[in-house]
Amino acid sequence: MITRREALRRLSLTGAAVAVSGPSAISAAFAQSELRRVPALSREDGIIRTVLRDYAPDELAVGPVLMHEHLSIHYPVGVAEHFTDDVELMTEEARLAVSDGVACIVDGGHPDMARSIDALRRISAGSGMPIVAGGGYYMQRSYPAEIASKSAEQIARELVAEVGRDRLGALGEIGQQEGELTPDEQKVFEAIGIAQALTGLPVFTHNAYTGRRAGTIPRDAGLRQLSALVSAGADPESIAIGHMCCLDDPNAEVAIEIASRGAWVAFDRVTLNAIMPDQARVTMAMAFIGAGHADKLLLSSDFYSANSLKSRGGAGLAQTVTVFAPMLREAGASEEVVRGILYDNPRRFLAFVPV
Ligand SMILES: [Zn+2]
Repeated sequence: MITRREALRRLSLTGAAVAVSGPSAISAAFAQSELRRVPALSREDGIIRTVLRDYAPDELAVGPVLMHEHLSIHYPVGVAEHFTDDVELMTEEARLAVSDGVACIVDGGHPDMARSIDALRRISAGSGMPIVAGGGYYMQRSYPAEIASKSAEQIARELVAEVGRDRLGALGEIGQQEGELTPDEQKVFEAIGIAQALTGLPVFTHNAYTGRRAGTIPRDAGLRQLSALVSAGADPESIAIGHMCCLDDPNAEVAIEIASRGAWVAFDRVTLNAIMPDQARVTMAMAFIGAGHADKLLLSSDFYSANSLKSRGGAGLAQTVTVFAPMLREAGASEEVVRGILYDNPRRFLAFVPV
């Protein structure tokens, strides 16, 4: 039986061989590849890559792992400064999250959101919090101008180089700004799908779902993202479709469809009540769990608001654990299920075999 590692090696050779034959050939080759036929990664073989070192997944079993937060970002994109520019402040917030029991945090930023790798390293070293750095591109309005003239393969190749250079441990958050992917966003999703297949890294996305506010985002936007990534060669088991807790879908129908295709569902804007009340998120999460998909649910809070800082009286980086998880327990989720979601799922999602 062929191992996944071997499949990925062959795949990257295939990719290299067809790269010269044009844009559509490479994606077709990926889509047809052996990747589809190999057994799922045995996650015990994988590692979780943080900015400072690699971890065996078991080393991070000591606490919850948060799969989408921001420790270094300019938000909204393009602003001249942001509270996260204060590395000492963020180091102290990360230290407080360590005290709250958090074992690891994934940062969802990348250069087009002004995320600084150096800041993440300093925050991690200063606080003792393992930090996984994301990579990629956010959405149309944040893209550097050159994206328009590059091919998906070119973008993917550059990303793979960046992954090695900056010790990236994930590709995310990869987003879209409206209901439909723009042509450039479509191209970036294809590039991310190719880069996933070449690196084995986990991918997480951003959706524009507006909660209960008036909006025109199609319900299946998350499913379309999944299709765009998978058709470019990505493994559904390495993909988390993000912000699914901001789709008003009480029975979690779209989330269940995503899980049934093998991908992860991220409720990664918990505590952002302005978009969607947490109680509605709990209802959806319980529907999703009730349908048998607790092993595909990821929780996080997309930390970017100064009001959430502990130093300003907020709940801090651990708010997923200290504010939202108790609501799940109150709604009837067992301790075993909650622990599996907070401790085990993100480690399984993040573990990958470097290619
Ligand atoms: Zn985010």
